[in-house]
Amino acid sequence: MKIRGLVKSFEPYRVLEGNYKIWLDKNENPFDLPPEIKEEIFEELRKTPFNRYPHITAMPLREAIAEFYGLNPENVAVGNGGDELLSYLTRLFKGDYIVTTPPTFGMYYFYAKLNEIPVVEVPLDESFTINGDMIAEKAKKASIVFITSPNNPTGNTQPREEILKVLDTGVTVVLDEAYAEFSGKSCIDLLDKYENLIILRTFSKAFSLAGARAGYLLADEEIINAFYRIKSPFSLNSLTMITAKVMLNHYDVVMERVNYIIKERERIYKKFKDYAYPSEANFLLMRLDAYEFLLEKGIVVRKLGGQLKEHIRVTIGKREENDELINALKEFLEGDY
Ligand code: PMP
Repeated sequence: MKIRGLVKSFEPYRVLEGNYKIWLDKNENPFDLPPEIKEEIFEELRKTPFNRYPHITAMPLREAIAEFYGLNPENVAVGNGGDELLSYLTRLFKGDYIVTTPPTFGMYYFYAKLNEIPVVEVPLDESFTINGDMIAEKAKKASIVFITSPNNPTGNTQPREEILKVLDTGVTVVLDEAYAEFSGKSCIDLLDKYENLIILRTFSKAFSLAGARAGYLLADEEIINAFYRIKSPFSLNSLTMITAKVMLNHYDVVMERVNYIIKERERIYKKFKDYAYPSEANFLLMRLDAYEFLLEKGIVVRKLGGQLKEHIRVTIGKREENDELINALKEFLEGDY
């Protein structure tokens, strides 16, 4: 078989499957859509021709997102989840390498490797903060710099003044704000001033649509145009487009749930302050090697590796799920495992 050596070096993306009770491993929203919103989506879907291709760039959704943020549809691109958008962004710009700020989201590395683009790492400091000056030093030859705020898996946001230091170099910055709704912080207002800023967002977290697969980019028109030169046509299907559009009209419900999740996050954080890092996302990073222990109790969390080995990342669930997590972690600590 003539499979490329590079491809042979990849492992398929794996997630744990099975009959576990509580899933706190993928930073999903614990709440499905309320039945009345589902009905509204079904009504829209009934009117949708399934035999026709969707709009080639999903313009109706781009328009709805643009209206939501007070931008133009020409400043918005949508795709099949944030991951798809990342795969194109990686290939869009000139430069010798991509800059990342580990520990951070693994997909930046995945797409860099797949496209045979070197990665230069400028690690976060001990409080998981970026160093804008150090990134700026690497900016000249970089195709893009990925900054994640709030960062996955650490949960903290990045200081605006550090982000500005990087933007001021003129390098293309992909600011991944997948969890921004949980922090109340964003750099969307900087889009007016910085043509080199690309903001990535997703419907998977705050909007409860991880199953629908929709993400979007907010950026300068020239970048969006370049993006659509290389993007596979029709990749955002009509069913998802309609679903995401309906959810944009229910931002009150989205934020009600976001606030619930924030309250729960703080409740758990307070109980495990000695082990948990402060978070502005829908998950907590904990310095606890409790993955196997929790799994035995039917609670699935994310096991981390590298410099964060012996840490877990715990998605905030519903109150009763969090109660079970809290009890299990207390037991873990008392048992001194
Ligand atoms: N960026 C970050 C930092 C993420 O954690 C995720 C989801 N795990 C994504 C982007 C992409 O999410 P999705 O493909 O579901 O839109």
